[in-house]
Amino acid sequence: MDFQLTEEHLLIKNTVREFAEKEIAPRAEEIDATDQFPADIFKRMGELGLLGIPFEEAYGGAHGDYISLLIALEEIARVSGTVAIILDAQTSLCCEPIHHFGTEEQKMKYLPGLLSGEKIGAFGLTEPGAGSDAGATRTRAVREGDEWVLNGEKIFITNGSLADVLVVTAKTDPEKGTHGISAFIVEKGTPGFQPGRDEKKMGLKGSVTSQLFFENCRIPLGNLLGKENEGFKQFLVTLDAGRLAISAMAVGLAQGALDKAVAYARERVQFDHPIADFEAIRWMVAEMATEIEAARMMVYRAAWLKEQGARYTKEAAMAKLFCTEVSERACYKAIQIHGGYGYVRDYAVERMYRDQRLCAIGEGTNEIQRLVIARHIFGE
Ligand SMILES: Cc1cc2nc3c(=O)[nH]c(=O)nc-3n(C[C@H](O)[C@H](O)[C@H](O)COP(=O)(O)OP(=O)(O)OC[C@H]3O[C@@H](n4cnc5c(N)ncnc54)[C@H](O)[C@@H]3O)c2cc1C
Repeated sequence: MDFQLTEEHLLIKNTVREFAEKEIAPRAEEIDATDQFPADIFKRMGELGLLGIPFEEAYGGAHGDYISLLIALEEIARVSGTVAIILDAQTSLCCEPIHHFGTEEQKMKYLPGLLSGEKIGAFGLTEPGAGSDAGATRTRAVREGDEWVLNGEKIFITNGSLADVLVVTAKTDPEKGTHGISAFIVEKGTPGFQPGRDEKKMGLKGSVTSQLFFENCRIPLGNLLGKENEGFKQFLVTLDAGRLAISAMAVGLAQGALDKAVAYARERVQFDHPIADFEAIRWMVAEMATEIEAARMMVYRAAWLKEQGARYTKEAAMAKLFCTEVSERACYKAIQIHGGYGYVRDYAVERMYRDQRLCAIGEGTNEIQRLVIARHIFGE
């Protein structure tokens, strides 16, 4: 058992922290206020290799491991939840399934552009009637000659309206229920594919969350991702990795809130003392730090299992459940430590509280995580 980060992990942590502090943190408030996708930061992440951390050099990746990606996500979320979710959707939701299930031809065609930041990627699973029950997807894909014809609608898709490359699910054999779903790669500009509105969200502003419409959208047969009718199994695999990404994001948001709270507690004087002297504040800080440490360990352990090629569905669900509830509590306490100033937009903890709220919802709500964990415990 080794609880040390490797030299490579430490290097990634330090490099990404420096990048995040210098180039993202000064922009985080403006991104939140303007709700504009930070295209320049996205491009910079491509240049720095952050979009390609866990992928092979042959596709333009950095040949790191998944833990490295999670470390980067934590460091970025520490200063901006928005940039973290953009990175998450690009790498763990779009590139991961292409990398895992794609043919060599598909990987060579799509990954280099996605990893360099030249192309934006998205993953379209959720539909108006198929959220937690993602198997209830109604989008249909019918084979006609040498094409698939897609009809249907997706909702809440991160990066959706901007994406150049989208991995989407559709029913190919409705009689077979969850065994009749397949995944496809759709390119921006394909006739019949049209992004709809971007949602107005409470947080993670600047990250687009979009509707997608498919109306007789014709894509080549070769754009089937993985095997026909295995889309349900595939997205469960994708979501395991995605849950670790969102867990790391939650840890980063919690750590960011803790760092802001500690700095503020040192500065703010009441009753002739910095509030950091008061036991009530110190206890909140101690609890935050303890929970964050435990949360981070759960992410690392689940990621380590992934690296070993072991099953980690339960551990990913546990990490997601715990980390996202820790981030809720940490951001709550960070606002409490800021008092009234924590409730106004001048202080980052207000944004962090709004941003972290998504973590308990996206990539499977925390109720669904409890369900997954209980199923494993009861051996079902
Ligand atoms: C900002 C944002 C970004 C997103 N990005 C993406 C993306 O990139 N790609 C994508 O495909 N999706 C994305 N989503 C969708 C997200 O994954 C879904 O919102 C989520 O899975 C929940 O689905 P739902 O919203 O339909 O809620 P519902 O499934 O309708 O759930 C409503 C409530 O019922 C509970 N519930 C449902 N079923 C059960 C059950 N069996 N037992 C107990 N409780 C249950 C839920 O936990 C929740 O509390 C995003 C959502 C948001 C808000």
